[in-house]
Amino acid sequence: MDHLQQSRLNLLTSYALDRGTLLRLDEEHLGQRVLSENARFIGVHHLQIAIDEAGGLRPALLNRNDAQRRFGRCEPWVYLGAQNNEDFFALLLDNNQPRQTQGFAGLRTLAAQVDHAQATLLSYARAMAAWHQRHLYCGRCGSDTAVHQGGHVRICAHTDCGEMHYPRTDPAIIVLVEQDDRALFGRKREWPVHRYSTIAGFVEPGESAEQALVREVAEETGVEVVSAQYHSSQPWPFPGSLMLGYHAVAGNSEITLNDRELEHACWLNRDDITEQMHKGIFVTPPPISISFRLIEDWFDRHSPTSLRKLREITATADF
Ligand SMILES: [Zn+2]
Repeated sequence: MDHLQQSRLNLLTSYALDRGTLLRLDEEHLGQRVLSENARFIGVHHLQIAIDEAGGLRPALLNRNDAQRRFGRCEPWVYLGAQNNEDFFALLLDNNQPRQTQGFAGLRTLAAQVDHAQATLLSYARAMAAWHQRHLYCGRCGSDTAVHQGGHVRICAHTDCGEMHYPRTDPAIIVLVEQDDRALFGRKREWPVHRYSTIAGFVEPGESAEQALVREVAEETGVEVVSAQYHSSQPWPFPGSLMLGYHAVAGNSEITLNDRELEHACWLNRDDITEQMHKGIFVTPPPISISFRLIEDWFDRHSPTSLRKLREITATADF
């Protein structure tokens, strides 16, 4: 499977959306599209997504009238793009208001309930809301910033500055390290009980993704990576990362928790994982994540039962 095919299988990515990058430059045309009956609004409040008031855990994709009725306004918005003859907008609801819990749900919960195309839209809306929330003021001079290009740039309002701020995406590596028939897993103290995952970390300035991979694995586990293969990538909007997924091979197996970022790390083969999942003492990352996909591709290569099937059999909870 090539990288395009691998990436297509990752949740929170979809080719269905036309992001309308040129349309963002035509503010007059975009201003007409947002007034059209084909406009759909995704309300984001404190990074939670508005859900259908009719019940059920479904995102609310509201037309203009319904958004106005429910939220009292239809701006500020961010243009997300067009899909199936509809234009989608993230509606940034006032974060100065106290947090409402009624009528909103988290992306992790909703993404597991909807198809790839919708999960991508929700993820994109959340990432843009998170960026706007953090860039109200110019990082260079501290003045107010104003929104332009359909919500895809904020420009410093100070005439002597005028700095343009674009949405940030922070690259991070995530890697399944294997040696012989075993793979390397780690867990952080703050994760749900018995949750294990692959090794991950941010790429630092002046560093390649592959250097970050070797460094992070060594820092977190003491294991030396001797080769690595790129797998696929996934946007991870918590709040704005791009996960670059790899499979790698280790040159040694002794584990040392050098930076104490992990509370535990271990080597497990497929039989160990199967046995521990049945006992409820090994919980995989949720299937919406690229970490699950990295583990799944390794696990299913030599297992009579797929990892997804094993999750069903052992009734593994997602969160
Ligand atoms: Zn400025």
